[in-house]
Amino acid sequence: MIANTNPTTSSFHGADVPDYGFIVNCMHCGLCLPHCPTYALTNQEKSSPRGRIRLIKSVADGDLPITQGFVDEMNFCLDCQACETACPAGVKYGSLVESARAQIFQQGHESTFSTLTKKFILGWVFSQPTRIRILARLLKFYDDFGIKWFLKKTGILRLFSDSLHEIQELAPTISDRPSSQRYPEIVQPYGEKRFTVGFLAGCIMDVAYADVNTDTIELLRAHGCEVVMPHTQVCCGSLQAHNGDRETARELARKNVEAFSKFNIDAIVMNSAGCGAFMKDYGHVFQDDPLLTAPAVDLSSKVRDVTEFLHEIRFKTAGEYFRDKRVTYHDACHLVHTQKISRQPRELIKAARGVEFVELPESTWCCGSAGIYNITRYDDSMRLLARKLEHVRSIRPDIIVTGNPGCLAQIQYGLLKEGMNIELMHTATFLRRASEA
Ligand code: SF4
Ligand code: SF4
Repeated sequence: MIANTNPTTSSFHGADVPDYGFIVNCMHCGLCLPHCPTYALTNQEKSSPRGRIRLIKSVADGDLPITQGFVDEMNFCLDCQACETACPAGVKYGSLVESARAQIFQQGHESTFSTLTKKFILGWVFSQPTRIRILARLLKFYDDFGIKWFLKKTGILRLFSDSLHEIQELAPTISDRPSSQRYPEIVQPYGEKRFTVGFLAGCIMDVAYADVNTDTIELLRAHGCEVVMPHTQVCCGSLQAHNGDRETARELARKNVEAFSKFNIDAIVMNSAGCGAFMKDYGHVFQDDPLLTAPAVDLSSKVRDVTEFLHEIRFKTAGEYFRDKRVTYHDACHLVHTQKISRQPRELIKAARGVEFVELPESTWCCGSAGIYNITRYDDSMRLLARKLEHVRSIRPDIIVTGNPGCLAQIQYGLLKEGMNIELMHTATFLRRASEA
């Protein structure tokens, strides 16, 4: 039974205690509706933030059981939090939908396939870096030995489902070597030390975007940062929390709080929007734990997106690597809507010498990646991607910059599929190249 919707506190519990301690102050004004991508897809009230809040409230008040329709609606939501940005009443919609998903997961209302996938991939594989690396090696083998090529050419997966054939194309290319194995635990700055910063290698970032991690670390070193990557760090837990598995999310968060608390650091720099948003929320995750509250709040207060940190330390680009390039920026949802970061990356990009910056229409509209949404709801995700690519076409950029691995994989997939010859890169990669003389 979902707890009543009147409490005035917010908390993040483990699996046994339902978490509906949130403030529901929705005025039902509907101002969020034009900002909701799923409402735009269906034009149905139940697929809008306001409609979903009504559904959640009905379940919470015991007027509605958790039906398959309720489960579908909660999973149809992207958790992009564009509605939070638009809401004048400050409704914490993200907490609401994540609490609903936790309830659904804990009470076993999802399909067996979905539950097993979440338990095996997010709950078991992602709970230990060694397991992630083993999975990455298997994926690399699949890539290097032509299995992916064979499946694509023969279309054999279409025998099972068209979506399965397409989804295997979405898998990012695995890096030659995980970033966490490229550096020791503590890396010295180039020149005089100004700061000591922690760095989360991440799960997907570590094995599939290791070069982006390297770019981030090298940028930090070049700007006087000693970089600490604790050996005992783990996946941040955001994917698990967003998909209802709060017990695993909390356990991962606990390990990271303990790992980073061993070092005296000025900031923890992140280059994945979803991970940064969740680590900024660790204080909330442990607010009911007398031992972990203080270190978790301390850690959260130090978390910075890489663009936020570089902007704060007055980073300057030096070279002209991107002279005469038309560059645009796609806002990752968990940067712009959850962390409210949109000005800093733009200002850093615009400061690169010779760049012609061009705004992407609807740059804050979700690209359809949304964690594992492009796998679990492939068709809806592709409709959102098509809308994004239409806007890209309209401005004809040479380069698209963005700050989240999910957006990189999704947009890259769309560009390749549509044969669009546009370079796509992470903001850290752009800034590193832009600072080369
Ligand atoms: S989180 Fe995104 S998809 Fe979900 S209701 Fe809000 S705007 Fe719509
Ligand atoms: S969530 Fe906010 S914007 Fe949307 S209907 Fe409620 S009060 Fe209005």
